[in-house]
Amino acid sequence: MKPAPFTYHDPRSKSEVLDLISTLENTKLLAGGQSLMPMLNFRFLMPDHLIDLNQVKDLDFIRFSGNQLNIGAMTRQRSLEFSKDISQQCPILTKALSFVGHRQTRNRGTLGGSLCHFDPSAELVNISSLLNAKLKIVSKSGARDVAMEDFGQGYLTTQIQDGELLSDITFEVPTAKHGFAFDEFARRHGDYAIVACSALILLGSHGAIAQAAFSISGMTHRPLRLRDLEASLIGEMPTQSVLKAFAANVSKLDAMEDSYVNSTYRKHLAKIMSYRVLKAACSSAQEKNHG
Ligand SMILES: Cc1cc2nc3c(=O)[nH]c(=O)nc-3n(C[C@H](O)[C@H](O)[C@H](O)COP(=O)(O)OP(=O)(O)OC[C@H]3O[C@@H](n4cnc5c(N)ncnc54)[C@H](O)[C@@H]3O)c2cc1C
Repeated sequence: MKPAPFTYHDPRSKSEVLDLISTLENTKLLAGGQSLMPMLNFRFLMPDHLIDLNQVKDLDFIRFSGNQLNIGAMTRQRSLEFSKDISQQCPILTKALSFVGHRQTRNRGTLGGSLCHFDPSAELVNISSLLNAKLKIVSKSGARDVAMEDFGQGYLTTQIQDGELLSDITFEVPTAKHGFAFDEFARRHGDYAIVACSALILLGSHGAIAQAAFSISGMTHRPLRLRDLEASLIGEMPTQSVLKAFAANVSKLDAMEDSYVNSTYRKHLAKIMSYRVLKAACSSAQEKNHG
């Protein structure tokens, strides 16, 4: 099937995009097209106007400032994957990117497109939650910052309204002493995860957990930060029993079902993957403490 007819627009700057989306009706923004093009071809979406962001250079950048990493929405996943600065200063992002689709999809796919598509299992959605990302949403009438945890409104649905554009995303970069881990269970490498987990762990001088962050996706329409469970780790030694107890609690979360995976199996995966990822993050933190 081919897309329903639309008028194509090719703006060159963010302000041109904002002019277009504030005046035209039934518009759709085209980023890497890796999710949008199939949806147009299946006619799940039938916009009257397609606004191509691919020549909008002021949406494509990677900037570090102190402990903040600011990335333009149109930055390709491949540029992030190959950024030396990111692999040195925020290696968990590089790690997660290696699970996103395939080289071909990462060549075109963008950070902003992945977040706006908001697949519940998307790796970049998971990591944005872990790194307390703030999303800058702009329109003709101004800008607002939205925390990743508030961005999702439902399955494949975000806070972005007609006339708005995701301009850039700011991540909190963990300190170099943080141990980190990301892992997922998918039917094949390159598929969306069924369940994905990510964790950051900082150990104190005596080896007890001083800071913990944990994000799980695939259980519901959005990634979950388990802040109460994270807090329960503080002050504990990272022993097998502590990590197993954490994982047992993760498996008590509600889990959605789809035509491939029922909720019992998702909960089972949540338990296995959360233990595995937490253990790996603790080992990584121990290596950094001794290094
Ligand atoms: C074979 C295949 C395998 C894949 N596997 C995975 C996988 O394992 N994990 C994974 O996470 N993804 C996977 N993907 C999806 C891929 O990561 C896409 O890159 C991503 O979902 C969408 O990014 P995009 O830049 O292509 O956005 P597009 O497809 O162009 O756009 C997606 C949506 O976001 C909107 N949008 C885009 N940019 C903006 C913006 N700046 N402001 C507001 N709205 C915007 C669009 O209007 C559209 O609704 C796969 C894709 C394919 C084809």
